[in-house]
Amino acid sequence: MKPDPSFPLVTRFPPEPNGYLHLGHAKSILINFGLNRQHSHDGTLRTNVRFDDTNPIKESEEYARSIIDDVSWLVGPEYFDGSTTSTSQHFDYLEDCAKFLIKQSLAYVDKSDKETIRQMRGTLTQPGVPSPFRDTPPSENLELFEQMRLGSVPTGSMVLRLKIDMSSPNLNMRDPVAYRVLTETSHQNTGRQHNVYPMYDFSHPIVDALEKISHSLCTLEFEGHRPLYEWVLDKLSPFLPSYPPPTQMEFSRLNLKYTVLSKRKLIRLVESKTVDGWDDPRLPTLSGVRRRGFTPSTLKTFVSRIGVSKVDSIVDFGDLENVAREDMDKTAPRGFVVTSPLKVTLTGPPPSHTSISIPMHPKDPSFGDRSVPFSSSLYIERTDFFDADGPEGKASSLPKGFNRLTTAQSARLRNAYVITVKDVVRDGDGNPTELICNYDPETFGGVTPEGQKRVKGIIHWVDAPTSTTCTIMQYDRLFNTESPGSVTDDILDDVNPDSIKILSGAVCEPSILSTCSAHLAASKDSSSLHFQFERLGYYALDKDSKSDKLIFNRVVTLKDAWSA
Ligand code: ATP
Ligand code: MG
Ligand code: MG
Repeated sequence: MKPDPSFPLVTRFPPEPNGYLHLGHAKSILINFGLNRQHSHDGTLRTNVRFDDTNPIKESEEYARSIIDDVSWLVGPEYFDGSTTSTSQHFDYLEDCAKFLIKQSLAYVDKSDKETIRQMRGTLTQPGVPSPFRDTPPSENLELFEQMRLGSVPTGSMVLRLKIDMSSPNLNMRDPVAYRVLTETSHQNTGRQHNVYPMYDFSHPIVDALEKISHSLCTLEFEGHRPLYEWVLDKLSPFLPSYPPPTQMEFSRLNLKYTVLSKRKLIRLVESKTVDGWDDPRLPTLSGVRRRGFTPSTLKTFVSRIGVSKVDSIVDFGDLENVAREDMDKTAPRGFVVTSPLKVTLTGPPPSHTSISIPMHPKDPSFGDRSVPFSSSLYIERTDFFDADGPEGKASSLPKGFNRLTTAQSARLRNAYVITVKDVVRDGDGNPTELICNYDPETFGGVTPEGQKRVKGIIHWVDAPTSTTCTIMQYDRLFNTESPGSVTDDILDDVNPDSIKILSGAVCEPSILSTCSAHLAASKDSSSLHFQFERLGYYALDKDSKSDKLIFNRVVTLKDAWSA
């Protein structure tokens, strides 16, 4: 039979619903959906999302739901409508395949325990030893397998093994296990209906064939399993639907420095409460990076840049951040936010400009302008004022190259006036609480009047009376080391204790509040709303935000700080 002419290419993404998806899975999803290129495919590729749900002990509905959500988000409704297949829907058929092999003397029931089987299979330097059960006649094996199926034998008491080649140099071919007994566990789809569960190596090629997959893409560690994949398809060819058999092809895993891409390790972080759930913005889970504000488009570009190859590579997280920066530079409207406000009061006549029109995007006029209120009561960043006479200034001298505000140095309020400090109001400890400043009306909008020296430092500001308080979440690496857990074997030993900074007293300009309120009112995915907070970085609205309680996650800083 020929392949389906409308879909000559059929792939599948086969997650096990035993955890949330991570960035490694994003690579696999995008490759399988043919979206790992700048442009999308030509429509001749079909991709199944298949739950490889053969281990009910570790699997759950919650995980399955999160996987559907994450795949939908990443590839979009155009490529994935939310419908899935599963290995479990073929459990009966798979058991029939096993019986077929038993009848052909190609599978047998082994009553040895797990450790004995492991030893019998030998090592790379040690040949395998045939099991004493290897030559049980098919009729007896059929009976034993029936007992396994009915759950009349205890969990772990016997397995079904494929009869291949105990002397093969490829360990995978030394009579691998095809079925195990598991009687006490309820499966999320099939309940207590089945007492035997197939192993990946047995079920995967069969379900691929049933789903008419043309290319079964997997990561490199399965290269040595390919002969087994082909053996299963070959021996079952009289039993399987007559259709060109699928081909297994391998590509390299994605590994990222300073983080972990393994569900087992991610579960450890979540269960130890090192992070705040699976969608903690510090995690490399898809729900985490989504909440943090990375977009599907950023992930697509990232995966297309790292490419598909058979060479294992360890990629810098900074590479992903660079792509995010490039993307958001084009798509994010600008705004003023002050994270640690210091009050500034302007003296003299009230400023003639009570609102200033500023482009939403400096390079793209299609974003339009925003109207930014201005008055004599403002906030600036505490760090934009060097207080030579305060406790901080006495402890250290003016940092080299500091060209922002001091009592001796004027600075420009971005898009507005040059200001000069006249007086510093202090608290009991001598720390400044307010700056009393003069402003020069002649300097509005970047003008340097004749005869005056050009002011170097330009700082951002927020008008105090019209400002809104918001919370800014700043994230750093979750781990201190490139390869977490490599020394002590416990990733928790390498967790960075300062991976999160919460600035709950930040203030933002009115245009940010109105954009967020409109976005929230339209019930849009909050993290899809991005801003560049000028001089600070790119931020996304957090999902816990409300119009009267804005929370922003820093996606990335403006410049790459990691390589510094
Ligand atoms: P983990 O080790 O995190 O548990 P897994 O491979 O067991 O991952 P599955 O749910 O079985 O997780 O994976 C579904 C698909 O995603 C598989 O085809 C697998 O090869 C692929 N995949 C998993 N991790 C990566 C990775 N780091 N890079 C590329 N592909 C990956
Ligand atoms: Mg797996
Ligand atoms: Mg796994």
